[in-house]
Amino acid sequence: MTELLPWHRSQWSGFVQARQDGRLPHALLLQGRAGLGKQRFGALLIQSLLCERSGFNGLPCAECRGCRQFKAGSHPDLREVVVESGRMAIRVEQVRSLIEFLDLTSQYRGFKIALLVQADRLNAQAANALLKTLEEPAPDSLIVLITDAPARLPATLRSRCHNVRFWTPDRRLAQAWLRETAAVEEQMAAVALSQGGGSPLAALGLLKPDAMAERADLVDRLMDVANGRSDPLAVAADWEKRNPELIFSVLCGWYVDLMRLNVSPGSRPLYHVDRHEQLHSLALAVDSAQLSDCHRSAQQCLELCDTALVKRLMLEQALLRLATLFDDINGRDALA
Ligand SMILES: [Zn+2]
Repeated sequence: MTELLPWHRSQWSGFVQARQDGRLPHALLLQGRAGLGKQRFGALLIQSLLCERSGFNGLPCAECRGCRQFKAGSHPDLREVVVESGRMAIRVEQVRSLIEFLDLTSQYRGFKIALLVQADRLNAQAANALLKTLEEPAPDSLIVLITDAPARLPATLRSRCHNVRFWTPDRRLAQAWLRETAAVEEQMAAVALSQGGGSPLAALGLLKPDAMAERADLVDRLMDVANGRSDPLAVAADWEKRNPELIFSVLCGWYVDLMRLNVSPGSRPLYHVDRHEQLHSLALAVDSAQLSDCHRSAQQCLELCDTALVKRLMLEQALLRLATLFDDINGRDALA
């Protein structure tokens, strides 16, 4: 991938300038919410440093030995560390082996680069080991750390990196990119961008046919629970094996739409534009304070998704709350 995403231009020119001036830092921390393309930016930057003839704009040529080996994942001067499967954190042994690698001489007399995706998953010992290297970096070495959650990294570690921040791009720019990349109509791009919280790559993922169908199915079930057509506990059991992040992000968007329509019935839904009518009648039937409580609780579940071991319980509680919210219109006794 040698394409520079249009909302990364200022970060890219910062990198190119630093390189030209010979003041490239030893460690970069790429931070910002998920779906903004930090990993793509990191990959492009690393490829550019490993490229043997990158152009005036710093972009890699995509053809030289360095570029070919980078693309094949076999460049001898690059090492990537990720959370191993079945584990929750990056272990200290992984970081130690990375440090040994950085201390070796470069195979091609260029940079030695270490990439840590999900840097917020470093365990305490691993973060400490890395900190020592950041204090005394090996010459011609670069450590690239990427995180969606910088606050989870120790402040000492963050302060020893050059921080590169990524922001949600201008909506028109993101929408134009999405239309072209996904080859979809304006309206569809707008809906996906809203559902992806303004993150273009999250929106792109949502435009895949499978993802569209899955979200539509989740919304159907939410509507069924709200209208008393489905048992919330049965739906929770059914959803246990599905992606909780997706479920709670759909649920959060659904509540945001209801809150909007509850406060101002003439407005349009932000996330589920295609469900305007159904949402409108539900929104008029609920109490706004209870609605925002439900939203807050769904938001908390969403934040807990990657650590929660009690998914079934979370789903049951969330769906019971939802069903209870609409008890009045369905004439049910309270469920919980
Ligand atoms: Zn190249």
